[in-house]
Amino acid sequence: MFTVENTIELFRNFATKVQTDKAWLSDLDTPIGDGDHGTNMARGLTEVTAKLDAGTYKDPGDVFKAAAMAMIGKTGGASGPLYGTAFMEMSKAVQANPDDITGALEAGLAGIQKRGKATAGEKTMVDVWVPVIESVKAGGLNAEHVDAYVEKTKPMKATKGRASYLGERSIGHLDPGSASSGLFFKALLEGGA
Ligand code: ADP
Ligand code: MG
Ligand code: MG
Repeated sequence: MFTVENTIELFRNFATKVQTDKAWLSDLDTPIGDGDHGTNMARGLTEVTAKLDAGTYKDPGDVFKAAAMAMIGKTGGASGPLYGTAFMEMSKAVQANPDDITGALEAGLAGIQKRGKATAGEKTMVDVWVPVIESVKAGGLNAEHVDAYVEKTKPMKATKGRASYLGERSIGHLDPGSASSGLFFKALLEGGA
């Protein structure tokens, strides 16, 4: 279940992972985008941790909401509103039922899809969220699964987002937003939720 403590820990861990892999995320975005995904995400998550340092939170839904606002306000790019919407929808789901991790992840994915209109197979972060949720439902998500789902975006042709401008030339590269989503799910796996 999500608690205030483990949700704060989740976002601190996600922020650390993004800072560590900032250059990698931007490098992934260079051949099929505009090379800013790492800097975008690092900027957003720096604001998230600043908010978490400054505030006090009475329930885990509030923590998700603060993270959502910070991501929307500071990340920029396509990814800022997408992660912001995901965390806002997760906030509502967690407020309603902090025990239901699957339900929270499904709400997050629904938010991403409402915002970005992508379905599975379009080489976006949706391609990690969908199989992650399937694995959680099947009772066993682990870090190797997460890596495998990120890797599966490589042969895909992008039909949404900036990478779609490249058409066939988007094939053969990992999707940067899928890679950052992989870091989020690894942070989730490492936490106590
Ligand atoms: P920008 O493309 O505006 O520079 P970023 O580089 O920060 O934004 O983020 C790019 C990532 O956003 C992509 O790798 C992809 O995973 C994700 N993305 C882009 N468009 C969509 C969409 N419509 N639905 C879901 N994810 C998307
Ligand atoms: Mg970019
Ligand atoms: Mg950009």
